[in-house]
Amino acid sequence: MLHLIKALPKRHKILAGGVAALLGLLLFLPSEDAEATRAHDGLQVGQRYPLAVAVQPQASQPLAAPEWQWQGQTVKSGDSLAKLFDRAGVSARVLHELLQDLGKAGRPLTELRPGEKLEFAKAEDGSLAALRYSPSRTEQLLVNKGDKGFSLESREIPVEHHEQFATNTISSNFWNAGVDAGLSPNIIDGIADILGYDIDFALELRRGDSFAVLYDQDYIDGDFIGDGKIQAVTFVNQGQLFQAVRHSDGNYYTPQGKSLRKAFLRSPVNYKYISSSFNPHRLHPVTGKVRPHNGIDYAAKVGTPVYASGDGRVMKSAYSSLNGNYVFIKHGEKFVTKYLHLSKRLVKAGQAVHQGQLIGKVGATGRVTGPHLHYEFLVGGVHRNPRTVKLPEAQPVPAAELAAFKAHAQELLARLGTQQRIMVAMK
Ligand SMILES: [Zn+2]
Repeated sequence: MLHLIKALPKRHKILAGGVAALLGLLLFLPSEDAEATRAHDGLQVGQRYPLAVAVQPQASQPLAAPEWQWQGQTVKSGDSLAKLFDRAGVSARVLHELLQDLGKAGRPLTELRPGEKLEFAKAEDGSLAALRYSPSRTEQLLVNKGDKGFSLESREIPVEHHEQFATNTISSNFWNAGVDAGLSPNIIDGIADILGYDIDFALELRRGDSFAVLYDQDYIDGDFIGDGKIQAVTFVNQGQLFQAVRHSDGNYYTPQGKSLRKAFLRSPVNYKYISSSFNPHRLHPVTGKVRPHNGIDYAAKVGTPVYASGDGRVMKSAYSSLNGNYVFIKHGEKFVTKYLHLSKRLVKAGQAVHQGQLIGKVGATGRVTGPHLHYEFLVGGVHRNPRTVKLPEAQPVPAAELAAFKAHAQELLARLGTQQRIMVAMK
C-alpha cells in the first residue's frame, strides 16, 4: 500500500529523450533506402502531395550498419558476462577490452538479471561490431565498436501518455468499485495511497461514496505498456469531497497546493484486509456492544501486516495479559500511537521506525474474542480521533510554482468534472 512514500518519482524524460530519440533514429533506422521507399508508398503521378517526406539527414559516419544481424543471448541464473560472451562466440579478451573502454558507463552490462537479453552484432570478419541491451522498456543501450574502441550510447525510448478517465460509486467496497470501473490494481492502490492520509479506506468508506480519476496509460510505438501516473483524483467520502492533483515534482497536492501527505496515515492496516468495511455500528469485539472506546478496531485475519502510521521511535514492544503483544510508538513530543493484540511484534523498544514500516502482525492475543488490531491515537496523552485532529502536513507546492500549479489543477479538475457529467448523463 505504501509505495507512494518510498518511490520518489522519476523525472519525465521526454524532452531529454527527444534529442536521444533523434540520435536513436539515426542509429536504428533500418536503412535510408527502405525508409524512402516506404514514404513514397501510394503516391500517384500527377497529383500534389504535401511535403511530408522526411528529409534524410546525411549520416557522416556509419552509426549502425544496416546489414547487422542481431543475435540474442538470454541471461540464465548463474550466468556471468563472460559466459554470455562465450555463448555468443566472443572471446574473453574482447569482453575485457569492451569493459575497459566503457569504464563506468559499462556498469549496466555487469548488472544483468536472469531473463534479460543481450544482443550481439558481428562484423563481416566475425568480430564483435555492436552490443544492444534494454535495461528497461523505455531505455536502450548500444555499444559500438569504432576507431577508438568501444563506446556506449543510451537511447531514451519515447513514451506516449494517453489520458484515461474512470468513475464509479461504491456499493460493496472500494476494490470492487475500482475493478468495475475498469481500473488496474495499480491505479486502485494508487488512489488509496494518495488519499490514505485523509480517508481511512479500511473503516470509513460508505455505500454511496464515489470517486473519479484521470490517469495515464503509457504506449511505446503504439503498443500499450501499462498504466502510468494518476494525474488527478476526486473522492467523496461520507459527503466530504477530497481532491488531489499531481505536481511536476511527483507529489500530490490539493487544488490549493497543500500537500496530501501528512505525519500520519489514517489506517495502520491495508483496507483490503479489513473484513467489516461497511458496518457503521461496529461491535466491540470483547463486550459485543456498540460503545465508544479509546481506540479503533480493525477486524482482520491473524497475520495481516500492521504498519507504523507515522515516523517515530518505539517506546514499548512487550506483552501483557490485557493488551497481548503490543507496540507503542512515540512521534515527536506530542503524539503516541498504540497497536494491540498482535500475533507478532517486529520492532524493539528504542528502535526508530518510519511511516509505513511493518511493525507487527494482527493477532488475537490478550483480552479479545477474535483477531483484530486495536489502534489508539493520542495527542498530548489524550485519546483523539485522528480524523478530526489537525495534523502536521508535508511541504506545500513551492510559492514560485503555486500559480502555475493552481491553473493546472483547475484545468484537470474541470476536465474530470466534465467527464463525470458525461458519464452520469449516459447512465
Ligand atoms: Zn478495541
